[in-house]
Amino acid sequence: MNKNMLYRSIPKVDVLLEDPEIQGLIETYSRDTVVESIHLEMDALRKYIGTCEDEEKAKEQIGNLNMNVRRTVTAMHTPNMRSVINGTGTILHTNLGRAPISQKHMNRIAQIATGYSNLEYNLEAGRRGERYSHFEKLLCKITGAEAAMAVNNNAAAVMLILSSLAKGGEVVVSRGELVEIGGKFRVPDVMEQSGATLVEVGTTNKTHYDDYESAITEETKALLKVHTSNYRIVGFTDTVGIDELIPIAKEHDIPVIEDLGSGVLIDLSKYGITYEPTVQDSIRKGADVVCFSGDKLLGGPQAGIIIGKKKYIDMMKKNQLTRALRIDKFTATALELVLQEYLSEENAIQNIPVLKMITKSYDETVAEAKTFKRMLQRAKLPAAYEVVDCESQIGGGSLPLERIPSAAVAIHPEKISVPELEERMRHLPVPIIPRTVNDTILLDVRTLDKDAMTLAVKQLKEMDILEETSLL
Ligand SMILES: *Cc1c(COP(=O)(O)O)cnc(C)c1O
Repeated sequence: MNKNMLYRSIPKVDVLLEDPEIQGLIETYSRDTVVESIHLEMDALRKYIGTCEDEEKAKEQIGNLNMNVRRTVTAMHTPNMRSVINGTGTILHTNLGRAPISQKHMNRIAQIATGYSNLEYNLEAGRRGERYSHFEKLLCKITGAEAAMAVNNNAAAVMLILSSLAKGGEVVVSRGELVEIGGKFRVPDVMEQSGATLVEVGTTNKTHYDDYESAITEETKALLKVHTSNYRIVGFTDTVGIDELIPIAKEHDIPVIEDLGSGVLIDLSKYGITYEPTVQDSIRKGADVVCFSGDKLLGGPQAGIIIGKKKYIDMMKKNQLTRALRIDKFTATALELVLQEYLSEENAIQNIPVLKMITKSYDETVAEAKTFKRMLQRAKLPAAYEVVDCESQIGGGSLPLERIPSAAVAIHPEKISVPELEERMRHLPVPIIPRTVNDTILLDVRTLDKDAMTLAVKQLKEMDILEETSLL
């Protein structure tokens, strides 16, 4: 086989650039990326010819050059971060971006972020303003706190609180609350980073009033309570509630800090969810500083919300660390919009996607699963479908034991295996992430809206992924 001849038959770059198809790519994308793709593909082609022993295959690859250039340049311009369809039924799926923001709120955020805004400009006074001003009053009204602010996430909030109130001193925490939350957020480590010294009291399963009382020294700067979020100790247990800690703290003139993690603002027990103490409960009981995530049960953007006594919030606003942890205009806009929904519980449940999904009744999920099944059947694909009962989870470390009765559509492929289908679903233009239980693919409708169902059916059909040979 004459390799020199094969090398010579590769078109020259300037010739290729005159090709109408390549010209089309330049118009759609850019000359720079097309030229880069041509060089990448030509290098790959030369390498291939160098090792290839089959002349026909080598010629075929030379013939594929245009197509490969198109593929490479398209990939360069396609964002890697994209939408997925969440069929897992886990509402606050940390790997899938936690809380979705509503379209209505997103439109408003787009409007603010694409131009200039009064992010840090006081329009009344005509001078510099504060970025927290847009939602501080709302947070106070909703929670009953004196003052509020927000940083990038709740891990940052804990760090900032400890650094502002307890740097160089001691903070007392129960051993039962020295938890690790997902993503390596470990209470003892965060405390070390903040410059506060951890004083552990009690045991893993039991901590008493006296344990706190006897741990307080001259060096004690605060008492900290941490919501154990993603785990529960059951059985022979005892913890000291925030209401019992307040008198001890008052007596020693130190603040009580509570990291609530999820931070629920409405009583979800009305909707069949286990009662979880609300943010308002903590403030009412007298916690001095409370922090929680913006994108867990609140259903908003990623943020760490800090509320409490004004004197402490003011100390945090003045801390240099705040500058490094500050929220941007997207977050500030989103927080105000989401918090405004909480002015009415009905609006919150209707307009905040996370709450809408959590409060969807079992009967609604059954009706939706039946509709989804009919939509799939109409597509006439080689598969059988079944509406089955399942259990959704809240996720994100919130209410870890909670199982919400829900309905799903099970897909039984006829021509391919379940693992094959699962893999193909992941490679769709808008990937579908199902729940696989006992070797069955389930799409839990709790985390699917009408658009997601329509898009799922459309893709399964157009990409032929249930056939032995698919278009993927
Ligand atoms: C989730 C959680 C955090 C971390 O919050 P992020 O917003 O994810 O940074 C901290 N503390 C508790 C108790 C949590 O549940």
